[in-house]
Parts: sequence; structure tokens; C-alpha cells
Amino acid sequence: MTDKEQKDKFTLERQAMVRAQLKKRDITAPAVLEAMADVPREKFVLDEHLDMAYYDGPLSIGYGQTISQPYIVALMTQELKIDKNCDVLEIGTGSGYQTTIIAKLAKEVFTIERIEPLSLKAQRTLEELNIKNVKFHIGDGTCGWHEDKKFDRIIITAAASQMPTPLLEQLKIGGIAVVPLGVEYIQELVTIEKTAGGLKTKPVCGCRFVKLIGKFGYPE
Ligand code: SAH
Repeated sequence: MTDKEQKDKFTLERQAMVRAQLKKRDITAPAVLEAMADVPREKFVLDEHLDMAYYDGPLSIGYGQTISQPYIVALMTQELKIDKNCDVLEIGTGSGYQTTIIAKLAKEVFTIERIEPLSLKAQRTLEELNIKNVKFHIGDGTCGWHEDKKFDRIIITAAASQMPTPLLEQLKIGGIAVVPLGVEYIQELVTIEKTAGGLKTKPVCGCRFVKLIGKFGYPE
């Protein structure tokens, strides 16, 4: 196959993914559908999984970690209700796929990954795609962003038993967080809205993520 034929094949697969995996379910936000139709997921999977780039499930990215299912990426993004004024903090850069989808919708994305080679690879991928509004940090995301900063939105792409306190502190009043909460195999995706009167938690659906490992997460 030539490079062009390969690219066209991925474009068709991507369009089919948006139709069958997102629109047929409950993804309706036009900006989210547009970003999912735009970002080449094949750039974020391992070479050995290229033929499964648009598969309806998570895939291994090495180091015991996974790139999330396209539907879950779209759902978490939709729940965040991001606009161009939003600064978004992401814990768990992984492949950088979710990071890129959010970067298309937000003002700026601040993303933390604890596994250095994953972060470095994601940085190269985003550079290749010419995504400029993302700041990367390598470290324990459960402790929050390393600078004094508050965020409009926070997304955690690994499962915690509870929302880490430093992250709640870095969420602005009026801000929204989306996080999978629970133990190893039984987790619930929830949204947490921070209001002047306290936190409003809303369940979204059952889910299964790798563990959030860190000072305010699970032990290694
Ligand atoms: N959104 C990513 C999902 C990656 S899986 C993608 O679509 O590719 C979750 C990621 O969270 C893993 O890469 C894991 O290393 C990372 N992670 C787990 N605990 C973390 C922590 N405390 N701080 C930062 N990253 C963490």
C-alpha cells in the first residue's frame, strides 16, 4: 500500500468509528464529534496495533498501560463541556490521544504522566501533529500541577478510590472534573462540579481504567 492509500484507509476507518461507535451511542456534542473525526488515532497506537487503530476498545501502549477506547475518550470529553476559554489539567498523558482531542477544544492543556518514556513519546507525537497548546510534565499527577495554578477542567484517565485532594484544590469554583472512581475492576465514571456551596458528584457510567498510582492514589 502507498502512504496515500494507507492514509485514506485510516480516514475511512475514522469516519466509520465516529458513526458506529460515537453517534450511534450518546455522543452528540458537535465539537467533540469534529475533534474525534479529525485526530489520526493511528499515530498514537503501537505499530503492532496499526490495523486495530479504530477498534472499539482499549489497546496496550506498553508499560502495562492502555490507550482508552475511542468512545470513552469522547464521553469524558463531552462530560467536561470544554470551550476555548478553558485551561484543562489532565492526569495520565499515556499516548497523548485524549490530550490531543482536548487540545482541539480548549485554550490550553496541562498534562502529567508518571512514566517518562510514555510522556516523551506523546510529546513527539503532538509535535508531529503541530499541536502547540499543551504543556507536559513528568511526575505524580495526584499531587497536582507543580506551579501555582487553578484549572477550569480536570480529567483523570486512571482510576482512583477518591478524587485526590490537591486536584480538588486546583479546580476553580464553577469548574468540572471527570474521573473514574473505584477499585481494580469495579469503577464508575463520575463528574464532580465544584460550586461555592460544595461538590456536586454525578455518576456517568461503569468503566474500567488502569490504576492511578501516587501519593494520593494507589501505592505502586
Ligand atoms: N489518556 C491516555 C490513557 C492512558 S492510561 C490515553 O488515551 O492514551 C493512564 C495513564 O495514567 C498511564 O499512562 C499511567 O502511567 C498514568 N498514570 C497513572 N498514575 C499516574 C499519576 N499519579 N500521575 C500521572 N500519570 C499517572
